[in-house]
Amino acid sequence: MGSDCLFCRIVAGEIPATVVRETETTLAFRDIDPKAPVHVLVIPKEHYADVATLAQGDPALAADVLATSAAVAEDEGLLGDGFRLMFNTGVYGGQEVFHVHAHLLGGAPLGPMLARNLA
Ligand code: 5GP
Ligand code: ZN
Repeated sequence: MGSDCLFCRIVAGEIPATVVRETETTLAFRDIDPKAPVHVLVIPKEHYADVATLAQGDPALAADVLATSAAVAEDEGLLGDGFRLMFNTGVYGGQEVFHVHAHLLGGAPLGPMLARNLA
């Protein structure tokens, strides 16, 4: 991957982003089109297409993504009222960028988990 992947290019510093936290293995930056008062994307620096590939390929790195998400949630003052952590995956999941990213959403009541009940 690399030049073809938007988020690899953000990791490489080729595309600007508002970074809120960086670790050796992860990067957290604000979503360009926020859907809530706090909307941060948390990614592993290494390219994995989606959360299943990441969890199966490098569980420790998946844990790093969760740990960074929790640290950002704390920094953003979300631990008291709560937040949502979401990995859109594949076509049914509505994934648009195929470099795994956790959406950290909060700062207001987020409503139902899905816009409508599909069951
Ligand atoms: P997905 O639909 O793949 O779960 O989410 C992709 C997210 O990436 C969307 O929320 C979208 O707003 C965000 N996004 C797309 N392009 C950029 C960009 O260039 N910079 C940042 N910071 N976010 C982006
Ligand atoms: Zn990538």
